[in-house]
Amino acid sequence: MCCRSPYLAGMSERDVGLLSQSGHQTLDFLDIDPADLQELLGQGLRWSQIITLRHQDDSCVFLQDDRGCGVYANRPDGCMLYPYRFVFVPRDGDQIATHVDSVELLDRSVRIALGWDGGEPDFVPLMLRDMSCPGFTNAPLSPLSYRDLLESLWSVDACTNHAWPCERHAALA
Ligand code: SF4
Repeated sequence: MCCRSPYLAGMSERDVGLLSQSGHQTLDFLDIDPADLQELLGQGLRWSQIITLRHQDDSCVFLQDDRGCGVYANRPDGCMLYPYRFVFVPRDGDQIATHVDSVELLDRSVRIALGWDGGEPDFVPLMLRDMSCPGFTNAPLSPLSYRDLLESLWSVDACTNHAWPCERHAALA
């Protein structure tokens, strides 16, 4: 389950902004050393996934007693995407990129993977699935279904990049 350990939802800078604007104190919901926060927030956290939601008693601090999410309308993109998570591997590398300076390069890579644009991508977009998700019992995806899923998940994730602006993030655009 995305709200319980060992899964930790990664936070983008926009996710942090949404929760802060709704009245939550940043350090109360982030699992991070306060000394590192400002430096990391200035680095564009969308893809780094190095800040995660704080857990307390093996559960997200926003998980309520009735198992509902206490910040459902403003929950991070990582929670919306669960059990999937985007990662990017440089085309000429063999390790997941932990930080990318240009979000446009990632957008371009996904557009090429979806067949919307031509050319050679700088990154290979991959969707990882949390195999421990109890609600996931479907058969493996066909290549066409995988492509459709990539497109729909990317539209959720990329709305933070102004490519698919959404009402949810409009206040932070
Ligand atoms: S923010 Fe909500 S949906 Fe996300 S992990 Fe916490 S309780 Fe679950």
